[in-house]
Amino acid sequence: MIKQEFKAESKRLLEMMINSIYSQKEIFLREVISNSSDAIDKIYYKALTDDSLRFDKDSYYIKVEPDKENRTLKIIDTGIGMTKEELEHNLGTIAKSGSLAFKKENDSKDGHDIIGQFGVGFYSAFMVADTVTVSSKALGSDEAYKWESNGTDGYTMEPSEKDSVGTEITLIMKENTEDENFDEFLEEYRLKAIIKKYSDFIRYPIKMDVTSRRPIEGSDNEFEEYQEEQVLNSMVPIWRKNKNELTPEDYENFYNEKHYGFDKPIKHIHISVDGTVRYNAILFIPEKIPFDYYSKEFEKGLELYSSGVLIMDKCPDLLPDYFSFVKGMVDSEDLSLNISREILQQDKQLKFIAKNIKNKIKRELESLLKGDRDKYEEFYQSFGRQLKFGVYNDFGQDKDVLKDLLMFYSSKEKKLVTLDEYVSRMSEDQKYIYYATGETNDRIEKLPQTELVSEKGFEILYFTDDIDEFAIKMLMNYQEKEFKSVSSSDLGIDEDSESNTDTQQQENKELFDYMKDVLSDKVKEVKLSKRLKTHPVCLSTDGEVSIEMEKVLNAMPN
Ligand code: ADP
Ligand code: MG
Repeated sequence: MIKQEFKAESKRLLEMMINSIYSQKEIFLREVISNSSDAIDKIYYKALTDDSLRFDKDSYYIKVEPDKENRTLKIIDTGIGMTKEELEHNLGTIAKSGSLAFKKENDSKDGHDIIGQFGVGFYSAFMVADTVTVSSKALGSDEAYKWESNGTDGYTMEPSEKDSVGTEITLIMKENTEDENFDEFLEEYRLKAIIKKYSDFIRYPIKMDVTSRRPIEGSDNEFEEYQEEQVLNSMVPIWRKNKNELTPEDYENFYNEKHYGFDKPIKHIHISVDGTVRYNAILFIPEKIPFDYYSKEFEKGLELYSSGVLIMDKCPDLLPDYFSFVKGMVDSEDLSLNISREILQQDKQLKFIAKNIKNKIKRELESLLKGDRDKYEEFYQSFGRQLKFGVYNDFGQDKDVLKDLLMFYSSKEKKLVTLDEYVSRMSEDQKYIYYATGETNDRIEKLPQTELVSEKGFEILYFTDDIDEFAIKMLMNYQEKEFKSVSSSDLGIDEDSESNTDTQQQENKELFDYMKDVLSDKVKEVKLSKRLKTHPVCLSTDGEVSIEMEKVLNAMPN
């Protein structure tokens, strides 16, 4: 038998994972079981469109079989199975080769976020097993194959004896070491607890032969052991449950089980609507930015279920771009599906749900802002930029949805403030909402242009993000107060009522003309300013486009 070597990067990813990625070994079972559940899902979908197949619910299940004597744990499923090629392709390589490259670039981070995003769940079995054997028979194929690997050197393939369609995974568990216990994963009570914790909502029964004791008939204190097959999961999906039956941990486990992220979500939103369009949704606001979030590869969307059956992994129409960081799922009984079970593009119900969800997210973010400022700021650090993009791109009403969620650093408060807070602090004689742009808060603080405004006691918002000023230009005003850059020529401040600027300007005309000559077309005009207090000179603009915006525009590819 020829041994196939793992692709080099698979090997390293394996090592990395075994050593660092998963903090808890027990999750190998969640990964293996969710693969089995996916495989049954696949057969289920097939049956929906293929008349020759019948999906009879009772014959689809997952079974867990511990064997202490032989130190093996089997996970058997009646899913769609894998052909020889699929075994090699799905288990022998790590499909998305970008994963390791990514890990290298971000070596300082822990590896948590790459797993799940690249589908390496299966490999987690090697955290607990010395050898993994996968015997599988694909739907529609007459041959079964066996893939076997010890996790580091590579794998072997050979034909195997398996009569029924599906997959049987056998883990030969590692021996205990001084500080690591692997025996526990062969204990019924442990397996029961792990399955309850991570896989309770799997829609197919997860079965195990559980040992129980009963009194021997006719005797008082003698017991006998017997085995009884039990279903270990409740199978009711979390989104169908009543909110008050669920704990924060339930939601967190769901988040992990679904691979929405490896962070702890900042907030979950559980929606049950029983109106003209009925739907349930569980949404999460993540804490950390997915590594690819601000790249082209990122795909927004929510999982979409129709009466409990997944029909779309990432339905983009359910989320506006500015809330694209939201993860989660929607289940509705009222969607109009066409024959191929694809949602009709112009689905009215879908639009209704999307609008509902958008408003709900907005309200939840507002309440987070009011109720837990620290958490909101944490959220804003991660995703505030996306909200500002939303204002800038403004399709219709977006500005109104988003304007109260924006925050900027304040010269007065020395922290992030909302526009509402700014306006509520404005004094009678302050006409505008002032802002200054620059690379960092420190740099802005030193800008000569801020002096006059600050001296008047007016608060200045610091714009350090490229998008800030563009967004604000779209917004135009907030609570009827217009925005004004501190470097614009008309600040709306009485610079000096008994101004003798004109005479001074005249007196120094020669100097200014000379300066203008030297600077030639770099400036439009050189003139005397009353705005400066300690700095000798500053630049100002009189057009719509500020110096900072010009920089961004010039840097943009044509
Ligand atoms: P993911 O589940 O994210 O795709 P995994 O590493 O968990 O990544 O699994 C890799 C692939 O192996 C799956 O996508 C699937 O095609 C295949 N696979 C794993 N387990 C099974 C199984 N029990 N039945 C059928 N296919 C499986
Ligand atoms: Mg998986």
